[in-house]
Amino acid sequence: METLSYTAVVLGAGPGGYPCAIRLAQLGVKTLVIEREYWGGVCLNVGCIPSKALITAAKRFEEIAHADTMGIEVDAPRINMEKLQTWKRGITGKLSGGIKTLLKGNKADMLHGTATFVGPKVLEVEKADGSGKVRVEAEHVVIATGSRPIEIPGFSFKDARVLDSTKALDLATLPPRVAVIGGGYIGLELGGVYAKLGSKVTVIEMADQVLPGFDADVVKLIDRKLRKGGVAIELKAQAKGWEETPDGALLRYATPEGEKTLLVDVILVTVGRRPNTDGIGLENVGVAMEGRFIATDKQLKTSVPGVYAIGDCTTGLMLAHKASHDGEVAAEVIAGHPAFNDAKTVPAVVFTDPEIATAGLMEHEARGRGHAVKVGKVPFAAIGRALTTGETDGFVKVVADAADNRILGVTICGPHASDLISECVLAVEMDCELLDVALSIHPHPTLGEGVMEACKAALGEAIHVLNA
Ligand code: FAD
Repeated sequence: METLSYTAVVLGAGPGGYPCAIRLAQLGVKTLVIEREYWGGVCLNVGCIPSKALITAAKRFEEIAHADTMGIEVDAPRINMEKLQTWKRGITGKLSGGIKTLLKGNKADMLHGTATFVGPKVLEVEKADGSGKVRVEAEHVVIATGSRPIEIPGFSFKDARVLDSTKALDLATLPPRVAVIGGGYIGLELGGVYAKLGSKVTVIEMADQVLPGFDADVVKLIDRKLRKGGVAIELKAQAKGWEETPDGALLRYATPEGEKTLLVDVILVTVGRRPNTDGIGLENVGVAMEGRFIATDKQLKTSVPGVYAIGDCTTGLMLAHKASHDGEVAAEVIAGHPAFNDAKTVPAVVFTDPEIATAGLMEHEARGRGHAVKVGKVPFAAIGRALTTGETDGFVKVVADAADNRILGVTICGPHASDLISECVLAVEMDCELLDVALSIHPHPTLGEGVMEACKAALGEAIHVLNA
C-alpha cells in the first residue's frame, strides 16, 4: 500500500477541519485534509447554510403574503419546491466548491476518502474514487469528524416517513402534515420553515418548554409566535412509536393526560446530535474520552501527544463557529505558537422567527452563578427602525454585574438578532461595562440602538423606555 507522509493531517473538512487545514498551510505546515463526503462538512452542505436558505425563503414567502399592510398588493404567492431546492443546492454547491479552491490556493493537499486510525498517527484511507487504500502518516493529527443526528428507538431514518435534518432539508414536495419530535433549535427552525410554507406542524417536546435552557422571556415569546403561526406544541410529551395507516403515519405519544395519537405525513426527529467518534478506529489511538466526546485541553490537545480534536466530536457547544475557532487554535498550536481556546463566550443563535441570539450569560445563568445583577430590557417596539421594518416582536436584554456594571451577557430575541449579537460578543470578551456601550454612539435609525438603549436601561438612564 502506498504511504503518504505529512507534518499534519486533518481528518474531516467541516467548519472545524477546513479552517484548521487552511491555517496550517498558511503557517507553512505540510498539510493533508481527508474528507469522505462533504467539503465544508455538515454546516455547509446539510446544516447551517441550507437551513438558513430555506428559512429565508419561508420568511420571504410569509412576508409577501402579508405585504398588503405596507400597501403592496400581490396575488397569493405559491411555493415551487423544486425551484427552491435548486436555489438552495446552488448555494451549498458554490460554497463547497469555494472550500476546495481555498484549500488548494493555500496549498493544503486534499484526499477524498474514508479514514480509519490504525495507530495513533497512522491512518488508512479508502479512496472515494474506488482506487483502493492509501496509508497516511503524520507528526500531528487533528480529529475533526463532526457529528450526526441521533436516532430514537422505533423511528428509523431509513424509513421514508421518518426524517432526520438532512432529509428534511431536501424535500421535493411540501408535506401537508409534519410532526417534529424535539423542540430544540433544529426542530423549531425546520418546523418553522414548513409551517410558514403551509404545512400543519406539531412539535412534540419532552420538557415543559420548547428550547430547554433558554431565557424564560425568550421561550414565552417564541412559543407564542409559533402557536400564532399555526404550529401546535405538545409539551411534556414523549414519542412512543408510529404505524403506517391508509391515511398516513399514526404517531403515538405519551402525555400527562395519557397516550395521544396524531396522523401525519412525515415525522422529523430532531432530538440532538451524536459525535462521530465511533467506527474511525479511535481504539487504536487511545485518547481519553468524556462519554462519547473526545476530551481536550484549551490547546485542543487530546491525552495522546500529537493528536488533537476539534469541533462537534469534542466537548462544548456543537456549533460551527466554535468548531472553526477550535480549528484555528489547533493549527497555531501545531505550528508552535502559544495559542489557547480561552474564549469567554461562544455566542449561540437560533434562526426562529424572531431570531434568538446570546452572548455570555443569560439572566437565569448569571443569577444561578450567584451574581447580583442589573438587567436592562428594551422591546424592539421602542426602536424606530424596528417599526419601519414591520418587525417589532422581541427585545434586547442586557445583564450586568451589579457590583461593577460589567456586562455578563446579552440576550436578543428579535429582528436580525443573529447580526446584532456580534457587538455584544465583543463587549463580553473585552469585559466592557454598561457605560462603554451606552456611551458609544450608535447610528440612527438602526436596530443596534436597542443594544445601546438596553445598556442605558440597566443603568436606569434609558431615553426611549421608562426606567424602572
Ligand atoms: P462536521 O461539519 O460534522 O464535519 C465533519 C466532517 O468530517 C464531515 O464532512 C464528515 O464527512 C467528515 N468525516 C467524518 N468521519 C470521517 C472519516 N472517517 N473519514 C473522512 N471524513 C470523515 N451551527 C451553527 O453554528 N449555526 C447554525 O445555524 C447551525 N445550523 C445547523 C442546522 C442544522 C440542520 C444542523 C444539522 C446543524 C447546524 N449547526 C449549526 C451545527 C453545525 O453544522 C456543526 O456544529 C458543525 O458542522 C460542526 O463542524 P465540525 O467541523 O465539527 O463537523
